[in-house]
Amino acid sequence: MRILVISDIHANLSALEAVLEDAGEFEAAWCLGDLVGYGPDPNECIQRVRSLPNLVCLLGNHDAAALGQIDLMSFNPEARQAVQWTQELLTPANLEYLRNLPERHVAEPVTLVHGSPRQPIWEYLLDARTATKNFAHFDTDYCFVGHSHLPVIYHLTEEYPLARLYVPDPQSHIELEPRAILNPGSVGQPRDHNPDAAYAIFDSEALTWSYRRVAYDIAGVQQRMKDHDLPVRHIERLSAGW
Ligand code: ZN
Repeated sequence: MRILVISDIHANLSALEAVLEDAGEFEAAWCLGDLVGYGPDPNECIQRVRSLPNLVCLLGNHDAAALGQIDLMSFNPEARQAVQWTQELLTPANLEYLRNLPERHVAEPVTLVHGSPRQPIWEYLLDARTATKNFAHFDTDYCFVGHSHLPVIYHLTEEYPLARLYVPDPQSHIELEPRAILNPGSVGQPRDHNPDAAYAIFDSEALTWSYRRVAYDIAGVQQRMKDHDLPVRHIERLSAGW
């Protein structure tokens, strides 16, 4: 089965539409959380994701914040402003949708979480040492995560005690070997100095991971953010890709 793997859309509908057009046909979609926060289109992004076939969608920290489940003081001032703006804008139906999202989902041979298998909402996997410890917190061969907005692969073998970190090249096609933790990168707010939207296609029979980047109309999104008086720092970072 050809499965679209997306994460950290962050209310950026233009990036999401570009990914969906670029992805071609897929039989299922796995969304690793953070549908909202930062961007100008929270309701539209939730509705678009909900329309995807055989969807599994997880709760991210920004989604939890929009639901009032997280103390806003744990966010920096600009992120807090974006969360409050999102809270006011979300429709009751979309809030209800977010409220029912799970923190973890297992679809053999993959465990899905937003942050890490150890702390599904909050922990960032930013280095091999932290990733290595997290292999003890899931039982499947693979774990897909988002949250860091960095497209990376951590591979743990029996021969070596520390997971190896790979940063795949855009448009690369990788044959997976157990065990691995994989991050498809961020659709709506990349942070690896490449502003193009990031995503992956997982083939659950061939066990392959196609990691892709696609350009989208960043200026149009930035203009919508300006129109809504969203924080300047969030507007600028979209075109810088950090
Ligand atoms: Zn995020």
